[in-house]
Amino acid sequence: MNTIQVKAFGAASSDADLAQMEIPRRAVTATDVEIDILYCGVCHSDLHTARNDWGGSVYPAVPGHEIVGRVTSVGADVTKFSVGDLVGVGCIVDSCKTCSSCQQDLEQYCLNGFTGTYNGKDKHLDMQTFGGYSEKVIVSQDFVLRVPENLDAAAAAPLLCAGITTWSPLRHWNVKEGTKVAVVGLGGLGHMAIKLAKGLGASVTLFSRTPGKSEDAKALGADEIIISTDDAQMQSVKGKFDLIIDTVPYVHDVNPYVATLNISGTLVLVGYLGGLEPILNTVPMILGRKSVAGSVIGGIAETQEMLDFCGKHNIVSDIEMIDMQNINTAYERMLKSDVKYRFVIDMASLKK
Ligand code: NAP
Ligand code: ZN
Repeated sequence: MNTIQVKAFGAASSDADLAQMEIPRRAVTATDVEIDILYCGVCHSDLHTARNDWGGSVYPAVPGHEIVGRVTSVGADVTKFSVGDLVGVGCIVDSCKTCSSCQQDLEQYCLNGFTGTYNGKDKHLDMQTFGGYSEKVIVSQDFVLRVPENLDAAAAAPLLCAGITTWSPLRHWNVKEGTKVAVVGLGGLGHMAIKLAKGLGASVTLFSRTPGKSEDAKALGADEIIISTDDAQMQSVKGKFDLIIDTVPYVHDVNPYVATLNISGTLVLVGYLGGLEPILNTVPMILGRKSVAGSVIGGIAETQEMLDFCGKHNIVSDIEMIDMQNINTAYERMLKSDVKYRFVIDMASLKK
């Protein structure tokens, strides 16, 4: 298959800084959309992948799965998009479309494995996929989202991952007017969880390690802030929540949060991947019919639902715009939780 070369920013190995490089993209097929990337959000998963935190990273690795751009060309059979449309691409660029998950619009749980926007396996080219830290991307129309034109395009970019990753559990666990939701960690995912849960009518509590974030959390819509290292504050919300969304990226003690669930409540892990330490105590789960669950991103239809909801309610991310060349500093700041609350790359900086 023909390829084109495009400018990108990526890591040559797990211990290398990200640097400019050229990568191949497949030529536009009949069902593909070619997108000129305007903005790309910086997710903590980008850093995990660049540094091989999860194992399995293939190099060079070009991260980026919060992509917003304009359509610059479409294949002959494309019916869903036209040149000039404002579009988004999230974490998924392909799936089998035939398994029971795909047939239920749950491509994120494709039984044959979805193709990640980066570090996946391109079905057309025999190589890894490259993400949105790049000038252009070419994606099958079935995995392209429509971004409401009334939203700020840069601030909408994080909706494509941070937004859908928190929206999907809020919807699955039926959050509505009056539901008591808590969010653990005020970062990219956490701040979107607060905004979206508020948008659905829930009351929202933030659990944070960082006292300095209280005012911001209130401004984002949180009704209450609990400092998770303060035992008295933790005790004050014992048995309170219907749903907790835990966004912490690293291993941490989940037991104190289970104690804050109401009877039949659920704690959904969306951040840390791996074995829990200290181990999970089943006693409060059994005696309170409580669940500890997990959730990954969301399907394409659900992502469009979330984008349309955000368009209607004017919900976007709070962002700090950076040039592509400053990505390594941005990663260091993200590790220190020094982000308010999502970095977004202005891709014009790469095209200069
Ligand atoms: P982020 O912006 O870095 O935010 C994470 C927040 O967690 C921090 O702001 C901090 O909040 C808290 N935190 C960080 N380190 C901690 C530690 N060691 N102990 C306790 N709290 C800690 O990251 P993000 O982009 O939101 O991503 C969060 C995680 O979700 C990452 O692991 C990412 O890979 C994962 N993720 C999963 C999915 C999915 O589909 N499941 C999708 C996207 C991302 P406070 O300062 O308020 O405590
Ligand atoms: Zn992400």
